[in-house]
Amino acid sequence: MTKPAYQRVLLKLSGEALMGDDPYGINRATIERMVTDVAEVAALGVQLAVVIGGGNIFRGVAPGAQGMDRATADYMGMLATVMNALALADAMRQQGITARVMSAIGIEQVVEPYVRPKALQYLEEGKVVVFAAGTGNPFFTTDTAAALRGSEVSAEIVLKATKVDGVYTADPKKDANATRYESISFDEAISKNLQVMDATAFALCRDQKLPIKVFSIVKPGALKRVIMGEDEGTLVHV
Ligand code: UDP
Repeated sequence: MTKPAYQRVLLKLSGEALMGDDPYGINRATIERMVTDVAEVAALGVQLAVVIGGGNIFRGVAPGAQGMDRATADYMGMLATVMNALALADAMRQQGITARVMSAIGIEQVVEPYVRPKALQYLEEGKVVVFAAGTGNPFFTTDTAAALRGSEVSAEIVLKATKVDGVYTADPKKDANATRYESISFDEAISKNLQVMDATAFALCRDQKLPIKVFSIVKPGALKRVIMGEDEGTLVHV
């Protein structure tokens, strides 16, 4: 059997990926299918760290958050990621995967705090580590948390799961002639003004020479094909 292309990866799941076709919240069938994909790659012996977003929950409360102080709203967003992390880890448990949630903000009665050596230990033990609460700081995003934690745990790549199967020359929903890049360098992505991750996350990955793979989480089995190094999504390389 061919070997996986990576031994340790950082998977970034947006909160919105958990919604399925619902307007907000967590869609049961969607989270279960996603975890099935995760289980498939965990079974290959690949060490998996996950950063989960919070957009799906934050969307539901956003109307009430209008006019709020930005930092306060951001803390709410971080708490939303903790809820998603708990749901994700529990869905993993139900599928026989051992997962540990680590939070960047202190909330010890609920989940353990992020401690880097402990996270590394869990990964080495084959446990899936779910990083919650982003970077722990307002004014950042969970994409930046993915770049940060990916760098900290020496992941070989950041796998950015989206609803689109890669980076395109133009928006494929608006332009029928848009084509997918199989791979593109950080510099090319900047010069062509392509949105891969937010600017802070992108800069950190580029500085750390941490490649990014943008792929579709709605396409069943795509995560495994990415892990096996097959032509799936778009690779952003140094
Ligand atoms: N957030 C934050 N700092 C972080 C990560 C997240 O303040 O380090 C807040 C921010 O308000 C953000 C929300 O949490 O809008 C949810 O994160 P994000 O938008 O990245 O989630 P996603 O879009 O991936 O679901």
